Amino acid sequence: MVVVMKDKVSEQAIEQVIAKLKELGFGIHRSTGVSKTIIGAIGDKTSFDAADIEMMDGVERVMVISEPYKLASRTFRAENTKIKIKKIEIGGEDIVVMAGPCSVENKEQIFKCAEIVKKAGCPILRGGAFKPRTSPYSFQGLGEEGLKMMRDAADREGLLVVTEVMDRSQIAMISKYADILQVGTRNMSNFTFLKDLGQIQKPVILKRGMSATYKEWIMAAEYILAGGNDQVILCERGIRTFEDYTRNTLDIAAIPIIQKLSHLPIITDPSHGTGRRDKVIPMARASVAAGCHGLMVEVHPDPDHALSDGGQTLFPQQLLEMMKQIQGIAQAVGKRIPVYS
Ligand code: PEP
Ligand code: MN
Repeated sequence: MVVVMKDKVSEQAIEQVIAKLKELGFGIHRSTGVSKTIIGAIGDKTSFDAADIEMMDGVERVMVISEPYKLASRTFRAENTKIKIKKIEIGGEDIVVMAGPCSVENKEQIFKCAEIVKKAGCPILRGGAFKPRTSPYSFQGLGEEGLKMMRDAADREGLLVVTEVMDRSQIAMISKYADILQVGTRNMSNFTFLKDLGQIQKPVILKRGMSATYKEWIMAAEYILAGGNDQVILCERGIRTFEDYTRNTLDIAAIPIIQKLSHLPIITDPSHGTGRRDKVIPMARASVAAGCHGLMVEVHPDPDHALSDGGQTLFPQQLLEMMKQIQGIAQAVGKRIPVYS
């Protein structure tokens, strides 16, 4: 249930409503917007009459949210959630591009990657140090050593760091090095892990499960929000379909649909979304045209010798080209690609 308070209502009226809701056994999530305060009340409402709250001082209206997700819903928050991390903002007009290798491989490689990413004008360095590989015999990542290298490389270029965290035991350690934590497609339904991520105050990129519906995906975000971490960014990274020409099918429709259903920022990953290097730029263009808030792409100084996902990884020149091509599209849809210094 959502209680919308009237404009410029007193703090006392808000507190009275919160106290009443707590008394009725609801969990409270308060959202103080530009003009209105909205109170999200989560819990069982079977033996309760919404009219009792509607009559209270300062209450404009009470809405019962019919979707199974509450805090992630547009009804709960009409304005887009904007996530600020140092100099960047995700969820507003800016298109934020995160780029880097699939895996951190060694110091030289990640320093070169950071240089490439910076030169292309992207503010965030991506890279995996703990890799969720299909085979246990494939390269599993450099672990904490890799994170240290990536942090140093990013700091040298003034970039932020995003990297995947695979289970609860890694959260504290990875948080020391990363500005954003990434939940991979294979972990989207790991609900106990999502609850753990709800307990921290660090932005989380939640990748769509490869067979997840929009509802399941937003419900996964709800787990993180319900714990108290409201900094969730959704990432469409392609779903499993019958088509095997591409590795996955990047679902561009997810962008406007998620924006209708939820206030959370949405980005896409055209690298994992297609699995083919030559399809990354067209899908990046399509994502920007459809209104995404950002992109995550793989780039490597020498993709043909990358230790993972080389076939979908851009050459440095292609990243520059991609940034050039999306510039005009961003403008056409009322977005911008900021110049970061
Ligand atoms: C990644 O971005 O490194 C990754 C493994 O992606 P996904 O979880 O989407 O497969
Ligand atoms: Mn990869």
